[in-house]
Amino acid sequence: MQKVKIPRTVDPTRAAQKRLDFDGIIQVSLFKRLTESVEGVKRDAQVSLSFDLDEQRLVVISGKANIEVGLECQRCNEVFAHESEVHFTYTPYRGEKTEEEAPEEYDLVDLNEYGEVDLIQLVEDEFILNLPQIAMHDEADCSVDSDNMVFGEIPEEIVEEKPNPFDVLKSLKK
Ligand SMILES: [Zn+2]
Repeated sequence: MQKVKIPRTVDPTRAAQKRLDFDGIIQVSLFKRLTESVEGVKRDAQVSLSFDLDEQRLVVISGKANIEVGLECQRCNEVFAHESEVHFTYTPYRGEKTEEEAPEEYDLVDLNEYGEVDLIQLVEDEFILNLPQIAMHDEADCSVDSDNMVFGEIPEEIVEEKPNPFDVLKSLKK
C-alpha cells in the first residue's frame, strides 16, 4: 500500500461538504510532544479520517489512528513496546454558543487563525491522552515476579527515595 501523508491542516467545512476521507500516515518526526512523553515513538502513525455533515449540518471529523511507542515499566523499569489505538469524533469549536449546542457525542476541536483544523495536533493529542497513567508490562512479560512483591505495602527503599512533599514544604518555610 502506498503511504500517503495526512495533510497538516484542512478546512473542515470544505472537507465535510466534499465528504473527504483521508487514509495515510503521520511521520514520527511530527510528533514532538508525544516523543517527549514516552521512551521513543517506534513508527509512523497510521491514520484514517472522514469529514462529513450530520443531520444538523454540523461538521463531523471522525477517525482512528494507531502508533507504537516505548514506555518504561513502572514495576521493572524496562522499556517495552506499547501499541496505542485511538478512535475519535470531533466537531469544530465555533464560539460559546456552539459549545452549548454541540451534541455530547462530539469532542470540540479548535480552529487555527485560517479556520482550519490542525490534524497532526488533533491526532497527537489523542495519543497523549490515551497513554496509560501507570505504564506496566503484562504480568507474564514483566521481569519482576509479582509473587515476590509485597502487596498493600510500599517497599522501604521507595519510601526513602521519595521525600514526603509536606516535609519539603516545611523545610522551605523555615
Ligand atoms: Zn515490567
